[in-house]
Amino acid sequence: MRIFVLNCGSSSVKYQLIDAETEEALAKGAVERIGMSGASLKQTRHDGDKLHYVGEMLDHTMAIGNVLSVLMSRNHGVISSLDEIDAVGHRVVHGGEQFSQSILLTKEVMDALKDCIDLAPLHNPHNIKGIQAAQRSLPDVPQVCVFDTAFHHKIPRHAFMYAIPYSLYRRYRIRRYGFHGTSHRYVSNMAAELFGKPLKEMRIITIHLGNGSSIAAIKDGHSVDTSMGFTPVEGLVMGTRTGDLDPAIILHVMGQEELTLAQANTLLNKHSGLTGLSGISSDVREIIEEAESGNDRAKMALEVMTYRIKKYIGAYTAAMHGLDCIVFTAGIGENAPLVRKMALDGLAYMSVELDEEKNRIAVGKQMEIQTAGSKVKIYTIPTNEELVIARDTKKIVMEMSAKK
Ligand code: ADP
Repeated sequence: MRIFVLNCGSSSVKYQLIDAETEEALAKGAVERIGMSGASLKQTRHDGDKLHYVGEMLDHTMAIGNVLSVLMSRNHGVISSLDEIDAVGHRVVHGGEQFSQSILLTKEVMDALKDCIDLAPLHNPHNIKGIQAAQRSLPDVPQVCVFDTAFHHKIPRHAFMYAIPYSLYRRYRIRRYGFHGTSHRYVSNMAAELFGKPLKEMRIITIHLGNGSSIAAIKDGHSVDTSMGFTPVEGLVMGTRTGDLDPAIILHVMGQEELTLAQANTLLNKHSGLTGLSGISSDVREIIEEAESGNDRAKMALEVMTYRIKKYIGAYTAAMHGLDCIVFTAGIGENAPLVRKMALDGLAYMSVELDEEKNRIAVGKQMEIQTAGSKVKIYTIPTNEELVIARDTKKIVMEMSAKK
């Protein structure tokens, strides 16, 4: 079975064509600058063949059409006809309170997705555009939605409610939803396997540090708390997002600077986090380089970011009444030993002890990086959200065929 995995953003489409039996990505790529001048499509095939095409791609339908043509092309392709695609798996950011797991796309599901647009106006409309574009190009192929929020569906009420008037929860569904669920689910399952104990019996903290970052407390097989909340702005310090913030700050700044809602939104999402603190970049590589050459604001940005991670580790250990292991994943979590070291520094009293040498060499690979005496295990595990989407899609499509 071949599964076309799609992750559609406002002006981008990331994709993989995955052989669901071998779990190999036959091809992976991305279209960027959809609807802008100089839209580009880059693809890497499983054998290393690379393609870079620049051309006009006015919307998601054109972009996905181009991707499918490349996947079928004589020189860069991996299939000879669209019939070789058995299913499409979509990453959908927000599933609201309704979706606790991945689901086959039907008209009712599409209506429910549209109903979630007000919860994730920056993401869900683009996910829907991608679904509609895939339906146009592959009308007879089953489509499955895999939600970023689903893994956090069982977070208990005391962790998902905000202390605002209850009527706002009822009226606008304002509560913690959490995101990156597919990644937290994948790495926690891997961690349980490495640890050699059923996931259902473990207490795990998973730390996803990418352009967006979140941390999750996983107990008895599901997420019981996570740092992103009603939106992906809450929690850890990210590339350009604030993370946790006294909410009155934004009211104060809006008043002082006479900001509109849109400007305030941009301030929180695009100009804050590491970018805002350091004045350099959202990229941790550049910040580490600057910090190492003596830039004090870069050093401060790293300190603020890693202190926040440490606070959450303490909080989630308390929330779970203990801790078996910690997992670092995503761009920063997998590749930045300094960030891991700073975040875990001083946690020996909780029996969290990093082995400095193992930590130093754990770059982009799966490793166990605690000392021999550390009771809590510490892992680096490369995440693979596309594989989870392909696995869920395969399972749902096979169940559907079995019912027929
Ligand atoms: P996304 O959230 O877009 O999926 P990634 O998980 O790919 O992002 O993470 C991207 C971030 O990872 C970059 O912005 C950069 O800060 C960080 N990163 C990537 N490689 C390294 C590295 N070798 N050292 C430190 N940070 C890195």
